[in-house]
Amino acid sequence: MRKLLIFPFNRRNKTDILLEESLILQKPLETLYIASHISKIRDFKLRYYKRKERSTPLPFTHTIKTLALNILDSASEKRVISDVEKYIILLQIIKGRKADEKFKYTLSGITLALAHFIKDVKASMEGDVSTEEIKKKIDEFVWRFDYNRFLVIFALDVMEEYMNYMNKHKLLDIEDIYKEATGYIDLLKFQEILFDGFCEIPRYQRIFIKALIEKSPSIVFSFPYDKDVPIDAMELILNETYSWLKKVCQWNEKIFDKEDRQPEIECYNFASQAEEVEGIAKIIGIELKEHPDWTLNDIITVFPSMPSYRPVIQRILKRYGIPAEIVPGYSLVQDASISTLLEIFNLKRSYDWPTLMNILLCPDFYNLNQKEAERISISSRERFFRLGFIRDDFDKMKGKNIDIIKRALKRIEGSSKPLKEWVDDVDAIIEILGWQPSYPEIKVRFQKVLYEMRNKIVVSEDEFINILKKALELVEVEEGRGSGIRVSGVQESVGMERNLCIIGGATEENIPGAPSLEELFIPDTIKRQLGFTHYGLRMARERLDLYRLKNENNKVVFTYPSKIQGKVQMKSIFLFGYNDSLMETGAFISKPYEIFSPEWSFDKFKKKFIVNGWLKISVTALESLLKCPYSFYLEKVEGIKPYRPPQIEEAPELWGTIIHRVMCNIFAGYENKSISGEDIPELINSFREGILKEIEEEYREGKISTFYRDVLKIRSEEVVNKFSSIIDNHKGYEFIASEREIEEELPFLHLKGKIDRIERAPAGLINIVDIKTGRATPPSYTEKNFFNEFNIQIPLYIWMYSRKFNIDSKDIIGNIWHFDFIEDEKNNEKFYYSKKLNYLDRIEEFLQEKVIKIVKGEYSFIPEEPKNCYLCNYKGLCPYERKD
Ligand code: SF4
Repeated sequence: MRKLLIFPFNRRNKTDILLEESLILQKPLETLYIASHISKIRDFKLRYYKRKERSTPLPFTHTIKTLALNILDSASEKRVISDVEKYIILLQIIKGRKADEKFKYTLSGITLALAHFIKDVKASMEGDVSTEEIKKKIDEFVWRFDYNRFLVIFALDVMEEYMNYMNKHKLLDIEDIYKEATGYIDLLKFQEILFDGFCEIPRYQRIFIKALIEKSPSIVFSFPYDKDVPIDAMELILNETYSWLKKVCQWNEKIFDKEDRQPEIECYNFASQAEEVEGIAKIIGIELKEHPDWTLNDIITVFPSMPSYRPVIQRILKRYGIPAEIVPGYSLVQDASISTLLEIFNLKRSYDWPTLMNILLCPDFYNLNQKEAERISISSRERFFRLGFIRDDFDKMKGKNIDIIKRALKRIEGSSKPLKEWVDDVDAIIEILGWQPSYPEIKVRFQKVLYEMRNKIVVSEDEFINILKKALELVEVEEGRGSGIRVSGVQESVGMERNLCIIGGATEENIPGAPSLEELFIPDTIKRQLGFTHYGLRMARERLDLYRLKNENNKVVFTYPSKIQGKVQMKSIFLFGYNDSLMETGAFISKPYEIFSPEWSFDKFKKKFIVNGWLKISVTALESLLKCPYSFYLEKVEGIKPYRPPQIEEAPELWGTIIHRVMCNIFAGYENKSISGEDIPELINSFREGILKEIEEEYREGKISTFYRDVLKIRSEEVVNKFSSIIDNHKGYEFIASEREIEEELPFLHLKGKIDRIERAPAGLINIVDIKTGRATPPSYTEKNFFNEFNIQIPLYIWMYSRKFNIDSKDIIGNIWHFDFIEDEKNNEKFYYSKKLNYLDRIEEFLQEKVIKIVKGEYSFIPEEPKNCYLCNYKGLCPYERKD
């Protein structure tokens, strides 16, 4: 009996009907169930066990691919090679033909392009492949660019050589297995074979499926087909498959009715990928709340571009506590553990700090000590902050972990060598680092790839890495990981029939998917004539997938982000008929894991800053406390240092230290003396020499690299220019002191400060100087600026100085010397006169009010209206950050 069950796409429980229409429930061990993909087999087993006792034996199940491989394993003397072996064989042929010199591709790239080409040609042929026939079509076509024609002819020559090689060595690739397995079909002894989930039968599988249908005494074939399918999908896929099936045998057709329901469809737009996945988590939460009878198995999420979404999905679903089974895996090249192992090659080229940290902090390197790695991370971030990290710095580093990394780097020294020697090097690196990925199968698969790459082809280091990466791209990790809501690519969703299907990443780039970058250019006309996958067929497949997803599931939600990695994304053209809805992703149903606790403790603050009921604080610390109590708390109380990887940039702190030191030195001996015109050239000279000496000193003490020393030396000329322009304005000023410490007390407050420089102006006014080296514009110190924005430093120094020395504050001026590397003579310094600082008599009251609140513990560390969030080191991890 040969039954062809024709189901409209929206018919639910097709697999259950298939079970009823077959003998499987009565004679499970005499029946073979074949599905198009592995996820469907798992779905089948669940459905089967729902109808049978757990102790009932399970029928034999296979995907069409595993069935063919199984037959060959037990019957054929030929060996099936992996895609990696195929790639290496092609690499050898292509290198022999010097393709990388003839064409503008890299060796690894053109090999992958040819591997795809051969795969497509073989998959498009029902019978044997005839390269001659293809060449004839190529010759008949009027090509606009000879380059493309040469490339295709070249590809066909390579293909011929490849096929001869395969025959000679009795090898088969994955595209050959169906034809080869057909010869051993008699080995199968089943009473009945069931086919489930096949919308399209690729040509290279047809001979095998035909033999299965003809051979088995009984067949039940489930075929989805309905008249509402888009026309191109109907013509190019369903009709084509249907008419082929009808030619194979005389079917007893049973046509099922369409269900009376329309697909419920929604479409959501989000700002970013992360917000999109958060939105998906929210949708899942809402739906599960609304349908208490649902289980996680009632929901499926489908991502046409799984590779780019996989890490985001894993991270966010885990964060929101949503269990998920992520299938298919991904290709090995995307495995984080493998990428980190290969970072050793990147480190050799760049010696940059993030790469070093990726290696050091990778938990999969068991020979590296994690505690030491963390220490290196912290100390090097401090040491090289703003100074950057270069090879010199790495060479000077010491310690057990660093020695291990240096040994691994030494192993990959050398120029071009045979692939197998490069593979030995990677094996040695694995040993040296003690690489053990958390999923052991990753190591096994990776080492299999390495084993398959052992070849005598001589390649450079760059070529080796490219070849290895392309080879890794070819290895799919198909097994799902975890359990819970199924997250899969499109192909793995065929026939799954869920209550809710969420399709994420529905952008114009993903639906329809862009062709692979490594694809030879063959005109569509030729592709159509030869039956290769052409543009129209690709579109039809995508349209059929969408139609299927919309009809197989009860409700379908499309989501897409507006940006992926900074690149603007549009909604898929296939979704233009649906209006977008917006969803707030702020409020969550699932409780997120706490990444950082924003709580502050007054007790901790008290221990550090309150002594016997008095607030003991410096002027600069008080300024930061008032400006943003939370950033003050994080920095000064908890000692939290924001994560800032070292990179070369201006280092105002370092310049600050150097300039302050030099100023102290060169003015020693000038106390209580007026600076005259004659002193100026000598002072400038001493300043220049002092700066250069301090830079050398920093270098000698190992605090800066040779490179950064040279940068500082170049910059020093601008610093000297600033100094000479400022000091020239201070001719006739009497120098009083540098770095003068000053203290003042009020009830409950002990205030300290250090004034950078004190002078007496020719008119007798005291000049309080503060030296600034950052790029921030000096504050205005107006009343509003003082009381509302809490820029208090210079006014407080004036107030303290006036009280301490009993001088009228009107006789004191403030002055900022600004070493900011901006060439603008007018802004090299700024004066603050008493006319503008007319609020100094209210400072005491202001301080008292604040201090009493602080010492009584009534002061909140939650900032009311923070103003400096944009420049704040804690932005991003602070819950109070102001983003406007
Ligand atoms: S981000 Fe804004 S509110 Fe948060 S600590 Fe920094 S300045 Fe304060």
